[in-house]
Amino acid sequence: MNPGLYVFDFRFTEYFQMTIKPLLEEGKDGELIDWLKDISLLRRGQKCTNPDCQGTKPMEWKRARIVDKFHWSCPLCKKKVSIRTDSPLAEFHCSFKIILETIVAWCDGISLEEYTKENKNVKGVIAKRIYSTCTAATDWYMQTHPELTLLGGENSVVLVDTYPDGCMTTTPHNNNYTKRVLCVADTSHMPARIWAQLIDNKILDYQKLAAVVVGHIRPGSTVVASPSLYPLLHGVKGMAEVISVEALMALDPVDYQRSLKNLETIWRTTVSVCQDIQNTSNAEGEQMLRELEWRQVFPTPLSQILHDLAAHATAISS
Ligand SMILES: [Zn+2]
Repeated sequence: MNPGLYVFDFRFTEYFQMTIKPLLEEGKDGELIDWLKDISLLRRGQKCTNPDCQGTKPMEWKRARIVDKFHWSCPLCKKKVSIRTDSPLAEFHCSFKIILETIVAWCDGISLEEYTKENKNVKGVIAKRIYSTCTAATDWYMQTHPELTLLGGENSVVLVDTYPDGCMTTTPHNNNYTKRVLCVADTSHMPARIWAQLIDNKILDYQKLAAVVVGHIRPGSTVVASPSLYPLLHGVKGMAEVISVEALMALDPVDYQRSLKNLETIWRTTVSVCQDIQNTSNAEGEQMLRELEWRQVFPTPLSQILHDLAAHATAISS
């Protein structure tokens, strides 16, 4: 992720200040853990796996001289189990405090490199695992909420463009970019809601492309299309209007590309992600695009990502 892309300091949000910060203070371990149970990041109960005990008494919550300060203990066979067992936090081998700080850094859009360089308390491999788990949760969320990628509608202006060709940025870019991305932005939301997908250059069928675009735009929208997409979209039925970026530019003063500058502002975050995915695998790139979509839906994402981490873990374990 480019530095400065999503950067917003969530340590100053009310949610962090009121809910999380007090729990990270010394001696608040018990309350922090209770809260993690409340938001389903830790389990509320555990059954002993010993065949002799199964189905009888549930395990008991006990204080212990370990990093997590507690464990589950079987009242019958005395077997001990980590309080992280079967929880979304099981694979994050560091304190709960560091896990939360790392999730906040991910929300803030701090790059993994920058975060691990400044935080010597967290191992790079663990921070990376936490970051990728957050991204995977956003990916899952977007895939299970397809309605969020249906954009526009009456009185909405929807932009349709491609990167790196197209009009998404006026900054000259590297011509070696191999990944082409189809991008749709609904400007009736603030920030604009995005739907973006990699286009395979080899099987580029323009009719199919037009159908894919239209499948993500609600009838009644005003569509602003890049010059290369305009010929495909201008005859599409059901839209209020289809305008080309060139037609918008014709209205600009000769000395200032106002339309292009406006478009550039709306597309800035999307362009940044489109650049970042150039050096990743296609699967990774698609996942980063869905993270972008999710972040545009949840611009203050801390409580949402905690919820989605728990929901995603439940979904993949069932
Ligand atoms: Zn037991």
